[in-house]
Amino acid sequence: DAMLPWHYDLDNGENISVGDRLIRVQDICFTQKEVNDSFSHQQRPIMELIDNLLKGHTQPREVPRVRVAWHQGAFWSADNRRLYAFKHCNVDWLPVRVLRWDEQHEFEMKSKNGEKLRTEYAQRVHDQQRQAAAERYLTESRYRDYLARCTMMQWMFVVEMQGQVLPATIVKATPDGTFEAVVWNGQHHLLHPCLLPSQLWRNREVPEPQRLPAIDPGCMSYIVPSDLHSKLPRPWCGICGICVGSSSKDLKQHEQGHQGLFNCLDCPKKCKGSADLRRHSRKMSHRIPIQPEAQNPAISV
Ligand SMILES: [Zn+2]
Ligand SMILES: [Zn+2]
Repeated sequence: DAMLPWHYDLDNGENISVGDRLIRVQDICFTQKEVNDSFSHQQRPIMELIDNLLKGHTQPREVPRVRVAWHQGAFWSADNRRLYAFKHCNVDWLPVRVLRWDEQHEFEMKSKNGEKLRTEYAQRVHDQQRQAAAERYLTESRYRDYLARCTMMQWMFVVEMQGQVLPATIVKATPDGTFEAVVWNGQHHLLHPCLLPSQLWRNREVPEPQRLPAIDPGCMSYIVPSDLHSKLPRPWCGICGICVGSSSKDLKQHEQGHQGLFNCLDCPKKCKGSADLRRHSRKMSHRIPIQPEAQNPAISV
């Protein structure tokens, strides 16, 4: 079975790149033996988070990211209380922030101090709820895997945006478990940079979607993803469709000739270049244009 973007090989853990991504909760170790029963921040009880996760009122993605680092053959957590809650609630794949062990002093410190802290909640409590939560998280994981296998299937999905149901083509699955999709709003092709699986629904009006040629989505979008630049020998201008200069600095300079095109569609933000706009849209989950309006759409309807 093909590797999906969030899959990883524990035998080659040192090769897993840093940044935001999914990691299986079962693969993350505690750096401390026991955890306190409340969060240091505002003294919120850990039980509150557990309750909300079990009831589905809180999604793991809405909780501040657990920081993990690879060290001596395993992933270790710097946020043991949150990890405890996720483990207790049978969360399957967890959005985490992967850091280098050496870059965050807390990992070394926590693993050394061995401080005794209280744990009041045994695994026994909420047996039934935990089972239900496990099934729910498993269903989510399966749906995410299914979506990843449906990239470049033309208008296979719909998304709801600002009261409209719009057809969408998934163009990329990210290691963070989110999806980049091209959305058609009736007038323009837009790129949504980080859709959650729960935002993507099967489009009933396209029972047999066509698979689009497997072109790199970066080449059909003028907001070029940063990972494309690591693959290409020279930076790429998606507006001109050509390689530009030899460094990202050259591209920035080149893009000054395309002023007025790097604008967010969901807020008044205007950016100086494609990199800034992509960063903005990913951070805010705002839609950005997939290509300048003057050009023909890369995907025909
Ligand atoms: Zn250009
Ligand atoms: Zn915006």
